[in-house]
Amino acid sequence: MDYCSKTSCKSSSPFDCLLFDLDDTLYSSKIGIAEGLRKNIDDFLVEKCGFPENKAPSLRVELFKNYGSSLAGLRALGYDIDADDYHSFVHGRLPYDLIKPDSHLRNLLRSIPQRKIIFTNSDRNHAIMSLKRLGIEDCFDQIICFETMNPNLSKSTTPYEFPILLKPSMDAMKIALRVADVDPLRSLFLDDNVRNVAAGKALGLHTALVGKMVKSKEADYVLEHIHNLAQVIPEIWVRATDSSDPRISRTRSEMDAILTATTVGA
Ligand SMILES: [Mg+2]
Repeated sequence: MDYCSKTSCKSSSPFDCLLFDLDDTLYSSKIGIAEGLRKNIDDFLVEKCGFPENKAPSLRVELFKNYGSSLAGLRALGYDIDADDYHSFVHGRLPYDLIKPDSHLRNLLRSIPQRKIIFTNSDRNHAIMSLKRLGIEDCFDQIICFETMNPNLSKSTTPYEFPILLKPSMDAMKIALRVADVDPLRSLFLDDNVRNVAAGKALGLHTALVGKMVKSKEADYVLEHIHNLAQVIPEIWVRATDSSDPRISRTRSEMDAILTATTVGA
């Protein structure tokens, strides 16, 4: 693998690539998305799997705790659930209009010269819909999502044949790094989930815990909000000082503007 062919080996930034989780990293799902998701999963458990209505919420919590998602848990328990049907039921009916455009985030992302990749456990439709609502769908080079980590699911003849892989499983993380074709030692992984961050650190990634006040053991950085990225990790923008690339000076002034705007608005 030729890592140097990607972008910025001449950069003095420690990062050639940034991997961003989506939900609760680039926006807060507390605006009604998480609540809608919980309700849709409960409805799926009742309407499609036949569980009693009063058992659905606790079952959802148990499945998430033990298997990483309700879909993964249901399939592991032998329910032959089609992933596309599940996703269109639980994600397809979410109130996406609650996600508002985030111009500050857009400016921030566009000022980052390195490769930027979405790395989410969600399905591709949800990722695209959320990114579009945020107004940042054109800010990323690649989306690594549920379908990327589970490419053979549609070929399975039994629910057990291909166990669902999701962050923080090491297998899922390794697939993502292979598909992204990045050197973990020169990549920054940003996620709101402590376990995902720990898995990233175990594979050698630089890690940032987003949406929290206190750093976890495996996080190199902690950001209360993704908007604080430039203040907390300014080394993303550090470039070789002897370069005459006009993009670089533009990037620096953009970063100054971001820092100023964020400080004033804080
Ligand atoms: Mg998340």
